[in-house]
Amino acid sequence: MAAAVDTAAVAGAGGRLRVFFLPSFIRGHLIPQTDLACRVAAARPAEVEATMVVTPANAALIAPTVARAAAAGHAVRVLCYPFPDVGLGEGVECLTTAPAHDAWRLYRAMEIVQPSHESLLRDHHPDAIVADAPFWWTNEVAAELGVPRLTFHPVGIFALLAMNSLFTIRSDIIRTSSAAAGTLLSVPGLPGKEIAIPVSELPNFLVQDDHLSKGWEQVRACQIAGFGVIVNTFVDLEQPYCEEFRRVEARRAYFVGPLGQPSRSTLHRGGDGNVDCLSWLSTKPSRSVVFVCFGSWPDFSVTQTRELALGLEASDQPFLWVVRSHDCSDQWAPEGWEQRVASRGLVVRGWAPQLAVLAHPSVGAFVTHCGWNSVLEAASAGVPVLTWPLVFEQFINERLVTEVAAFGARVWDGGRRSERAEDAETVPAEAIARAVASFMGGGEQRDRLKARAEELAERARAAVSEDGLSWRDINRLIDDLLQARASGLAQGNSVQV
Ligand code: UDP
Repeated sequence: MAAAVDTAAVAGAGGRLRVFFLPSFIRGHLIPQTDLACRVAAARPAEVEATMVVTPANAALIAPTVARAAAAGHAVRVLCYPFPDVGLGEGVECLTTAPAHDAWRLYRAMEIVQPSHESLLRDHHPDAIVADAPFWWTNEVAAELGVPRLTFHPVGIFALLAMNSLFTIRSDIIRTSSAAAGTLLSVPGLPGKEIAIPVSELPNFLVQDDHLSKGWEQVRACQIAGFGVIVNTFVDLEQPYCEEFRRVEARRAYFVGPLGQPSRSTLHRGGDGNVDCLSWLSTKPSRSVVFVCFGSWPDFSVTQTRELALGLEASDQPFLWVVRSHDCSDQWAPEGWEQRVASRGLVVRGWAPQLAVLAHPSVGAFVTHCGWNSVLEAASAGVPVLTWPLVFEQFINERLVTEVAAFGARVWDGGRRSERAEDAETVPAEAIARAVASFMGGGEQRDRLKARAEELAERARAAVSEDGLSWRDINRLIDDLLQARASGLAQGNSVQV
């Protein structure tokens, strides 16, 4: 730990360091940022007070996690501001709860909260601001207040570097995309092995103009100009990319993950988790169950959902499958399916305690969409994965999982895959059954991926243990912020934010 400063004395002089955390309206961002706030407060309880700045319905989602931290004596609190009126229903304040056709309203809400954030930050004048990547404007208000502003990235380093690199050749990609969606692009400038990806699997903002393509450069510029960047990852998962990121993407980079730690107290992390599934898991043999979950807002068609149901049935393996509640309103399950699979399959409608599920000894594989949190949580739990990316940077994360960190394999390689759902082929039941049955049936591939996942889990544990790399980065972050306050950054001089 870089303890060049007597932090206890500094904290004593200025009172607890008051750090404000501003997550955006996406559950996969809200959850790890809440974990981060709790981790920072727990690391140095006498020196830090963490405040989650959220809208009311999002406050409800994080309430159990915050309450637990408070019960442990850590200074974590919640400050609410109103969710902007963008024509969404009462209490619909994050991507999970909004219907897919209303997602644009959520993105619009993220753009128009700037004045609320600014007045709240001026009123409360925190010592430091940690803001989600989309809230780039917090750099300006931080500069005005003379306090450090850090970017929190809920995406991994490998994907960030790849997307930033591809952004530099975006006009070439756009020129060729309509003619050759299947063209393999080699990601320029990435350290390590060559990574190639077809245009059809790139995030939309690299291929077309959308809300993100307009803001991407601004987000990146503010990230680089800001005090530093915090990422939920651990160095052993993303070498050599972490070094490169430190070199080119941030004035200070803190790799603090994995932030989510499975325990009984994380059962309601990010939502009202169905805890009965853990008792069900306990009735199954060690490493026998396939966990199937596609994050907080999958938008599967009824056809795809039914193929998945039939595929899991035909695999003849025990499974635990999380189905979003709004998918359940349709006739998603084939006639008689639930009765046929009742003895070996469990469907959770809504929200599962994913961290606890992955940590359960009966879970042997994870079918995942490769959302960053899920990738990190699987690696940290030592569970090998079967990849089924859907949108955004998930196809890039898949490359990390299958080609670099090497603890997963694809569910399906046979048909047209695309980040744009309308261009993607439905993954057929037979392919799903084949992938699941052959993986769970054992053999060289499973042994290799399992061994690698277990090795990563060991390294993740070491990273967050006392004096591990992520533990040190949390402490370095606190030291740097205390030092910034002590050296007069709080008065708005010397250090540029
Ligand atoms: N999650 C959960 N229960 C669920 C679904 C998701 O606890 O039923 C958590 C999961 O553990 C992860 C987050 O929600 O922390 C999802 O983030 P990820 O980046 O994997 O996917 P996203 O939802 O952003 O697509």
